[in-house]
Amino acid sequence: MAKDEKRTGDPAEAGESQAGAAGDHRGDFIRDIVEQDNSTGKWGGRVNTRFPPEPNGYLHIGHAKSICLNFGIAKQYAGKCNLRFDDTNPAKEEQEYVDSIIEDVRWLGWDWEDRLYYGSDYFEQMYLWAEELVKKGKAYVCDLSADEVSRTRGSLTSPGKESPHRNRSPEENLDLFRRMRAGEFPDGSRTLRAKIDMASPNLNMRDPVMYRILHQEHHRQGDKWCVYPMYDWAHGLEDSIERITHSICTLEFENHRPLYDWFIDQLGIYHPQQIEFARLNLTYTVMSKRRLLELVQGRHVQGWDDPRMPTISGMRRRGFPPEAIRNFCERIGVNKFNSTVDYALLEFCVRERLNRVAPRAMAVLRPLKVVIENYPSGQIEQLDAVNNPEDPSAGTRKVPFTRELYIERDDFMEDPPKQFFRLAPGREVRLRYAYFVKCVNVVKDAGGQVVELRCTYDPATRGGDAPDGRKVKATLHWVSAAESLPVQVRLYDHLFTKTDPDDVPEGGNYLANLNLNSLEIVSQARTEPSIASAAAGSLFQFERLGYFCLDRDSKPGKPVFNRTVTLKDAWAKVQKKAGTSGA
Ligand code: ATP
Ligand code: MG
Repeated sequence: MAKDEKRTGDPAEAGESQAGAAGDHRGDFIRDIVEQDNSTGKWGGRVNTRFPPEPNGYLHIGHAKSICLNFGIAKQYAGKCNLRFDDTNPAKEEQEYVDSIIEDVRWLGWDWEDRLYYGSDYFEQMYLWAEELVKKGKAYVCDLSADEVSRTRGSLTSPGKESPHRNRSPEENLDLFRRMRAGEFPDGSRTLRAKIDMASPNLNMRDPVMYRILHQEHHRQGDKWCVYPMYDWAHGLEDSIERITHSICTLEFENHRPLYDWFIDQLGIYHPQQIEFARLNLTYTVMSKRRLLELVQGRHVQGWDDPRMPTISGMRRRGFPPEAIRNFCERIGVNKFNSTVDYALLEFCVRERLNRVAPRAMAVLRPLKVVIENYPSGQIEQLDAVNNPEDPSAGTRKVPFTRELYIERDDFMEDPPKQFFRLAPGREVRLRYAYFVKCVNVVKDAGGQVVELRCTYDPATRGGDAPDGRKVKATLHWVSAAESLPVQVRLYDHLFTKTDPDDVPEGGNYLANLNLNSLEIVSQARTEPSIASAAAGSLFQFERLGYFCLDRDSKPGKPVFNRTVTLKDAWAKVQKKAGTSGA
């Protein structure tokens, strides 16, 4: 991937200057083509794109780029975008995938209205067109095995070898092709091939296979067919049948375009324009469905919607909002050069969205008990806390304060270094929305571990500053010991340890770069009680810890949270630089 340009995800670079782009579209070369076509009247002002997934896996963030591009262009130019399942390969396709794709595209916010199509519904028409090419002497039945076909295909430097069956008569071909369809021959015994040019410099033009024999049920067509169209034969025809204007696909199909053109021109049917763009690659992850399936089947993750997966369903479960994904797709733009986008840019878009909409709450991941010695036991004060400082209309909530509290273990150090401003023996800090507290004693267990802090509070500092003007250098989050809820929290790291998972020694495999610490389960965490009534999928900012999404694994009284993304933590950076760890 050396030739790839890197695009940084540094929020400072990616962010503010383009922030205004959210919602309005920056131009790109595809939109330029659409506008040009509209101005010349090439399609009579019609714009009809499509998103054509093969239902052989769940959608990933790369698909989101294609979805936002196709549906986005249709929306922008008052056109239409079809959702079409390119379901021509019965071996790998399943209804589960169809259902998940429908759910994901809808969740991303796009609408295909009544234009949900299936390539397999066009099998009869495709077959008739194949017969037409046979009759015209443009296609023939070949008895070579798949192996022999690929061996005789030649290479980039040498021409292919013509099949011994290439010059069968149209009558014989038609008879054989019909008998193929009728189920007379076993799998793999024959194919239908286009008769083009075995010496073409474009390997795709060397008599490509159009149909293969496969006695296998189709998820939609049942056992109706035992010959199935190859992708290259089917794809352009599907676009033609749906009268697509701009058939947008990824770069690797650029040199298939002459073949699609050839098929369509031989048949003399409606001819869409294919336009290729660069696929999305993201750091620290893999994107092909084959690999994602491998991760699922190899149990390296817990399923297609594991929150570490780059799938749409994984990101949804992780808590990424659809608005953030759409915004990300807009920001990365569209071009003709393969590049790798920094995962941090995606996280930046997620933070930016959640900062605006996620209600705040307090949670403590690794509790350290604090006893306020001068606070009456049994007393509960309901303190006012702001739900979202970015959104005054979100209002306030009550947070219970009691004599016994929990703070984050990391927020206390017995012997703090210079840059550590949080709680330490003899030091005073503010508890968010509550009081100034001062650590007056440290209780340890037999092993010397700090197990409890004894503090005092200043009643005069309730909800604000000290009347005498004295300052504290830190504000900590906390929860009441008795009034908080125990929760499980799942913290995630990248699925791979390297920015490019394919960066492996000669002969190695990307799986060697799997991050074995990509999931950390924190089982002692506690949150303030206000989240008790939240529904699965609800998002919160736990102050100072990041954004969290209530997972569907939650049970009554046993909430489970996924950390969606961390907050930018200046302290973590300082620590990293100083080479200390722990926060
Ligand atoms: P993969 O290679 O990840 O398995 P695919 O291309 O085989 O994906 P399809 O179901 O054929 O998956 O893809 C549907 C559409 O999504 C196609 O138009 C394809 O070009 C587009 N697409 C797939 N991956 C990406 C990507 N990484 N970036 C942008 N578009 C993509
Ligand atoms: Mg594909």
